[in-house]
Amino acid sequence: MDIAVLIKQVPDTYSERKLREQDWTLDRDAADAVLDEIDSRGVETALQLTEAKGGEVTVVTMGPDRATETLRKALAMGAHKAVHVLDDGLAGSDALQTSAALAAAIRTLSVDLVIAGNESTDGRTGSVPSMLAERLGLPQVTSVRTLEIDGTTLRAERVHDGGYSEVTASLPAVVSVIEKINEPRYPNFKGIMAAKKKPVSTLGIGDLGLDPSTTGLANAASQVLDGAARPPRTAGEKVADDGSGGTKVAEFLAAARLI
Ligand SMILES: Cc1cc2nc3c(=O)[nH]c(=O)nc-3n(C[C@H](O)[C@H](O)[C@H](O)COP(=O)(O)OP(=O)(O)OC[C@H]3O[C@@H](n4cnc5c(N)ncnc54)[C@H](O)[C@@H]3O)c2cc1C
Repeated sequence: MDIAVLIKQVPDTYSERKLREQDWTLDRDAADAVLDEIDSRGVETALQLTEAKGGEVTVVTMGPDRATETLRKALAMGAHKAVHVLDDGLAGSDALQTSAALAAAIRTLSVDLVIAGNESTDGRTGSVPSMLAERLGLPQVTSVRTLEIDGTTLRAERVHDGGYSEVTASLPAVVSVIEKINEPRYPNFKGIMAAKKKPVSTLGIGDLGLDPSTTGLANAASQVLDGAARPPRTAGEKVADDGSGGTKVAEFLAAARLI
């Protein structure tokens, strides 16, 4: 079975994230960039399936030039090839536009399954996998913690607030995984060296047959009009415990309506 995995390059969680004041898009150069943790689980899921059933893993990302590093990381984990959706005309895309470009890229592949993360750690709309499934006309199962493939049927445990449901669907399909699904492997030296030779194809707006008047920040359906940085953390209130510490903490929590 051949699998496509959507992976996103995001600012490192431990770096400071900044929005650019001129257009409120993320200042991606201001922070270290990493493979989104949730997507490393998507890659691991695909590798485990193809190791068990045969087939190839293609990782797909839409992002600026430096997103190649993130593709190489996934190739070093063991993915077979990569597709980089790369075009200046796509900068500042919202989730709708991102799903359109990724759907066009997936259509250039012949895959049985598309795996994504349930929510990225920067935009966090959690909407791209569903939009993609709609655009491709495929069944989707989101937020899965287990995934099995039996012939042309997938079985998954889908997590929700009330617990989980057992869901089945026919392939080809789109699934999104949660963090608990597995522990991703770390690339070893052999994998890192092999990744340098693995094929990465690049697709732009023209290659994808997208209409340039519908792509990028200027044509996005949602616009950020204004924003503000989160206020810096204050030191907080210190309570000297002269035996009344517990009461003071309870009063503080009650005042903050936390209890
Ligand atoms: C702070 C911030 C706020 C934003 N708010 C909005 C908003 O309110 N509305 C809006 O439409 N857009 C918003 N965006 C833009 C949006 O983040 C991007 O369009 C993004 O590419 C897709 O949305 P997401 O990250 O929320 O995806 P999610 O749906 O949260 O991502 C889920 C999964 O989809 C896949 N995926 C997502 N993006 C890519 C990609 N570029 N390449 C490959 N796979 C991908 C990954 O597997 C990922 O784990 C925001 C961006 C930022 C940084």
